[in-house]
Amino acid sequence: MNPIAPGSTIGIFGGGQLGRMTALAAARLGYRCHIFCPEADNPAAEVSAAATVAGYDDAAALDAFAASIDVATFEFENVPYEAVARVAAQVPVRPGWEALKTSQDRAVEKRFLGGIGLETAPWMEVRSAADLRCAPCPGILKTARLGYDGKGQLRLDEGFDADAVWDAFGAGRGVAEALVDFSAEVSAIAARGADGSVAVFDVGRNDHEGGILRQTTVPAPVPASLAAEAQTLAARAAEALDLVGLLAVEFFVTREGRLLANEIAPRPHNSGHWTQDACGADQFEQFVRAVAGLPLADPARLSDARMVNLLGEDVRSWPGLLAEPGARLHLYGKREVRPGRKMGHVNRLSPKTR
Ligand code: AMP
Repeated sequence: MNPIAPGSTIGIFGGGQLGRMTALAAARLGYRCHIFCPEADNPAAEVSAAATVAGYDDAAALDAFAASIDVATFEFENVPYEAVARVAAQVPVRPGWEALKTSQDRAVEKRFLGGIGLETAPWMEVRSAADLRCAPCPGILKTARLGYDGKGQLRLDEGFDADAVWDAFGAGRGVAEALVDFSAEVSAIAARGADGSVAVFDVGRNDHEGGILRQTTVPAPVPASLAAEAQTLAARAAEALDLVGLLAVEFFVTREGRLLANEIAPRPHNSGHWTQDACGADQFEQFVRAVAGLPLADPARLSDARMVNLLGEDVRSWPGLLAEPGARLHLYGKREVRPGRKMGHVNRLSPKTR
């Protein structure tokens, strides 16, 4: 397969910070990016050659977008099938619909993970209050679709009132899963090239607050064999989806040291931002390489790293972070500060310990 050469245009669905950092990495390799997203004020368009602000149901805008690009990808997986199919009829779309479809729906995702031998927390699909009575308890009820950063999730505590919880939930379909008493959360990010080659970044430990990622530490303080297993499982999932691009897989590490897969994302991931300063080529460059059909880069890590998200008002600490020796500041240019909103992140490096 011929690579999509530098100088070509990469179309990106979604206009958030992941699109912004992808566009920056693409620009460094000589590509132009064209952002397609419904929000006029978006961080990705600011650093891209072109942007289309239109709904994912705007056929004329999708056709014009497809005509202006050489390949399309996503920084946001919840793009409707019709939009993806329309663009895919005109240019290659990487990753393809299979990967997107699987990550758009928690029930489909968990069935997929189970089907390829990745263990998950016990779970069931829930469509009614009656279903909910059989849910694992203590547990968590999550919306099947369009949930992120812990949004759309309700706790199921001992003696919960199924009717009241189902009313409060408000979504027509959900996934109820057992609450995992984990010792850590970790993630592995696999890149898969158009030629089927796979390169996996080192595994990080993720600390969440209120469902939102707070920080990632690399190397994850877990046994090397467990980290290696997480990498193998992420590569297996990318291969099973026949994905070209990136696949982030988040895991719980149980107290007994087992890996339970929680979520997959077929795109760059917040838990991979440490690669920007601790690897020769970061997750965004690796993503661009995969999507453009270029050879993948060596994912080797050059130092230990800790990435801390700047959420909401945290971003106001930028003067101090700029003054801090060795702190690497990344800001997304978002004008409005809202509680919990991802405004930027900081990477701190230290000498490699393993
Ligand atoms: P999710 O949207 O599924 O990624 O969930 C967001 C965060 O909520 C996770 O990273 C965990 O910290 C927590 N969480 C989600 N599901 C579970 C679970 N089954 N048991 C314990 N914690 C969970």
